[in-house]
Amino acid sequence: MVVINGCGVTNEAVRQTRVAVRRARRDRPNAEIVVTGCASEMDRNAFAAMPEVDRIIPNAAKLLPATWGGFPNHQPPRRHARAFVGVQNGCDHACTFCAIPQGRGASRSEPIGAVVTRIAALVEDGTNEVVLTGVDLTSYAGGLGALVEAILIGVPGLPRLRLSSLDTIEIDGRLFDLVTGEPRVLPHLHLSLQAGDDLILKRMKRRHLRQDAVTMIERLKAKRDIAIGADLIAGFPTESEAAFANTLALLDDCDIVHAHVFPFSPRAGTPAARMPQLRPEIVKERAARLRAAAAARKTAWLKTLLGSTQQIVVEKPGDRGHAPNFAEVHLPSIHPELVEPPSFSSPSERKGIASTGSARMGDTSSAPTVGSVITTTITAATDDHLMGTIA
Ligand code: SF4
Repeated sequence: MVVINGCGVTNEAVRQTRVAVRRARRDRPNAEIVVTGCASEMDRNAFAAMPEVDRIIPNAAKLLPATWGGFPNHQPPRRHARAFVGVQNGCDHACTFCAIPQGRGASRSEPIGAVVTRIAALVEDGTNEVVLTGVDLTSYAGGLGALVEAILIGVPGLPRLRLSSLDTIEIDGRLFDLVTGEPRVLPHLHLSLQAGDDLILKRMKRRHLRQDAVTMIERLKAKRDIAIGADLIAGFPTESEAAFANTLALLDDCDIVHAHVFPFSPRAGTPAARMPQLRPEIVKERAARLRAAAAARKTAWLKTLLGSTQQIVVEKPGDRGHAPNFAEVHLPSIHPELVEPPSFSSPSERKGIASTGSARMGDTSSAPTVGSVITTTITAATDDHLMGTIA
C-alpha cells in the first residue's frame, strides 16, 4: 500500500499531490494507492476520477488505527533533530484567500495532558527541541499561553520549545509573558501577517490591522531580542501599487528577518477567487520584489550575528543546525557520514552528550550527533545562512 497525504493549501500543492499519485502508480504498479489529506478532502471527485487512485480516506479518519486495519498506535522511529508536535487542527476563521477551513474543518485542540505526556516521552527519548504546530495555533482551546506554561512545568527536562505560526492578534497575555521572559521558549516567532495594507487586510478578512502587528512586535522586541518571521502574500486581488508598497514597508516596520512570500494564487471556492484578479505578471513581479527585499534584510541581519555564540540542535546530515533565533548555522568542517540520532537512556545522559564541545576541525570521530545541542561560534555569514565552528 502507498499512502499519499496531500496538502491543499495552494494550487501548486494540489498539483504536486497529483504528481505524487501518478509517480506512485508508475513506481509501484501493483500497490494499492490511497490518498488522504486536504488536497483530496477539498476536491474528492477529482481525485476519485484519477485511474491511479484506489481509495480516498477522509482527513477525519486518517489517524484512526481502524482505518488502516487496526495497526498498533506506535511512535514512528525518530528521524529528525526537532520534533514537531501537532496540538491543534482546523480553523474557525474565514480568510478570503484560504481553503484550509474547507479541508481541515472546525478548530479542535489536543488535551493539555496528552500534549504534556507526549512531549515528556519525546524528551525521554532524546529530543532537545519541540516545535508546537497547528493550523491556527493561537486558537488553542484554553489559550496557547496556558498550554506552553503546562509544558514548561510538566516537562522540566525540555531544553527548547519553539512555536510555529501565530496570529499576532491572538497572542494572549500569558503567552506574551512566556515568549518574552522564559529562556526555554525560543526567541523566534513566525507570524501570519499576510499583508501590510489595511484595505487589503480587510478584503482578506484578517482580524488585525497593520498597526496591530507593528505594535505587538514593538512590544515583544522591547522585552527580548526576538527574530520575527512572517507569511506575506503578494498580488492579492485589487492590490494597488501603493497597497503593495505598504506590505513591502512592513518588512522594515516589523523587523522581519524570516519571510515566507507567496504570490497570490486563487483557490477554487474561496471569496478571493471571485474578486478582480491582478495580471499574473504583476503578481509574479511583486512577489519577486518582496522576496528580494526580504532576502536583503535577512542577509543584513545575519551579518549582525558574526562573532556571536549560538547553540544549535544538530540536523541531518550532521554539519548544520538552527540557532534559537532560527538562523541556519553550517559547520563546514564536519563531514556528513557520521550521524544517526542517539539512543539516550535518560535526559541526563542526553545532556552529557549535548554539552560535548571538543570536536576539532575535520575530526569526524568526535563530531556531534544529530539531535544534540552544541555551542558554536559564528565566523562567517553568507546570503542566507551562518558559518560557525564548535566552541
Ligand atoms: S486563520 Fe489561517 S487557516 Fe484560518 S482561514 Fe485564515 S489563513 Fe486560513
